[in-house]
Amino acid sequence: MKTYNTIIIGSGVAGMTAALYLKRSNIDFCIIEKEAPGGELLRIPIIKNYPGVRDISGTDLAQNFYEQTKELNVEYIFQEVLSIEKENDMYKIILANNILLTKNIILAIGRTPNKLGIEKDLSGKGISWCTICDGPLYKNKPVAVIGGGRSALEGTIYLSKICSKVTLICRKDTFRVEDKLVDEVKSIENVEILMNTEVKEFISSDDKLDKIKLSNNEEIDVDCCFELIGQIPNTELLKNLDILDDKGYILVNNKYETKEKNIFACGDCIKKNLYQIVTACSEGAEIAVNIIKSNK
Ligand code: NDP
Repeated sequence: MKTYNTIIIGSGVAGMTAALYLKRSNIDFCIIEKEAPGGELLRIPIIKNYPGVRDISGTDLAQNFYEQTKELNVEYIFQEVLSIEKENDMYKIILANNILLTKNIILAIGRTPNKLGIEKDLSGKGISWCTICDGPLYKNKPVAVIGGGRSALEGTIYLSKICSKVTLICRKDTFRVEDKLVDEVKSIENVEILMNTEVKEFISSDDKLDKIKLSNNEEIDVDCCFELIGQIPNTELLKNLDILDDKGYILVNNKYETKEKNIFACGDCIKKNLYQIVTACSEGAEIAVNIIKSNK
């Protein structure tokens, strides 16, 4: 059984930043990732608030992070972690065809988009959770965005440059973002904003989305509807460890330690106040530096 000092689970910005710091101090570790490096970044069209980097697409920023770690020869294992088990002072990481042993674990496992739950069988047939992946499929077509947070507003700006019209549907009378971003969205000619409005039903024709029915019973024609309504932490895997709150977020102290010895957590999967790239990076770095110090 291969043994490491540290295993990072998840290669979003939090995990990759921890990797940069660990590698530069010669800690023996690997990153396990079940999809592609970048995590949430891969769903963000344009990042406008990462200091020192002018407007950049999420995929380009993810690629920059990944290449930086690869230049340092960080070891990636592209597999899903099936479970984590305690083994004396160590942890066993169970993969489909392998078991790894590690002293420390850094959980950087992120979140997954929420769903309305009324999609029926229209997922991927006109209902989407990723503007960057699916937006280009709807060039010059009318689309809708549901949500009132940063993802919805930034997604609307991105889609307005591709689609003929974007109807932004927010269930409250206020957005959850700063005024400057709201003003930017309001100034876009092909964006219509519907406040205090909910989506009641998705109506299909020829097995794809055709219309959406609103809470005021109005029906609007759209080729795609993007549900950008928040996210849930990817912590199913950790249900056997007593480290989650009632919403599934990982609870950590101010050193990003969980209640389990030598299990740390960072990025969007932890309970915290600010879910930003800059905070995820800082948390990953801080955990790595503490592991490096404890190894001296
Ligand atoms: P948020 O949780 O911030 O917002 C979710 C939005 O969806 C709210 O307007 C909420 O309404 C609405 N909503 C939730 N459930 C429903 C529902 N069933 N029907 C209709 N509307 C619903 O999610 P985001 O994904 O926008 O952002 C998550 C975090 O990630 C934030 O902290 C954000 O700042 C961060 N982020 C950062 C980015 C960056 O750094 N560039 C980019 C994108 C996100 P209500 O207010 O009524 O609850």
